[in-house]
Amino acid sequence: MKIDIVTIFPDFFRGPLDYGIIRRARENGLVAIEMHDLRKFARDKHRTVDDRPFGGGEGMVLMPEPLFDCIESLGFGPREKRLAADAKESVVLLSAQGKRFRQSVAQEMAGLEHIALICGRYEGVDERVTEHLADREFSIGDYVLSGGELGAAVILDAVTRLIPGAVGNEASTRQESFTAAVDSGKPAQGPSSTCASNGLLDYPHYTRPARFRDWEVPEVLISGNHEQIRFWRRQQALEKTSRNRPDLLDQAALCEEEPRNLAALHRDRDSRNI
Ligand code: SAH
Repeated sequence: MKIDIVTIFPDFFRGPLDYGIIRRARENGLVAIEMHDLRKFARDKHRTVDDRPFGGGEGMVLMPEPLFDCIESLGFGPREKRLAADAKESVVLLSAQGKRFRQSVAQEMAGLEHIALICGRYEGVDERVTEHLADREFSIGDYVLSGGELGAAVILDAVTRLIPGAVGNEASTRQESFTAAVDSGKPAQGPSSTCASNGLLDYPHYTRPARFRDWEVPEVLISGNHEQIRFWRRQQALEKTSRNRPDLLDQAALCEEEPRNLAALHRDRDSRNI
């Protein structure tokens, strides 16, 4: 996969690309990430890429021309083709006004071959970029950042780790938070005490020591009973999801008896006043 990042601060990405899974994925040739300095596409000697907003108001707006020139130099096909369901490339604008970037989007994007991430700055980007250049507009959450660079780093991290081969143990990306069940196509091998989150939050994890200060790890985890461990983890994931992110429950794939368990959990929590 190739990821092009368009930014006025190319050095911003030095840190995020140089650690862990992302670094390994680059070194192994799974992903090639390239920064493009938007100012190189400015038309004047001052390398101007922004101007005052038409209609008045605060701040400056990134001009369309350098952004179009930059993206058009990167070999993308026409926008209409990129909008097709089977398209293998995408030009993404980072924007607080965009659709919410989620794990399901990251999963879909991990199957693409070529992605551009356009980082806005100042008051934002001329709307003609949204309408005629980018094929998607994504927000990474309901807050306003000072630039799209952090959002681009978030997207490239979430997408790159889902490229097959990027994470050593692929099963670990199937069981994590927000992840809908994905059929691996391989039969389960040996006893497994993990389970897909099916759209819930992940279950709690513990490691050594079994007793830390006065806190023991839950006994079931050292029982060796994989069936019981799986059941406990699923219960915990449900409990944590209903406590921290009840909005996810509507979309999650629950088993038949789980809604009843949830009602019991809610009753238990209400009676404990949590
Ligand atoms: N005036 C805009 C905010 C501009 S912030 C508004 O109120 O919506 C400057 C740039 O930061 C944006 O162009 C965008 O690229 C980036 N940005 C800010 N918040 C973001 C978010 N939640 N997700 C993704 N990008 C964001």
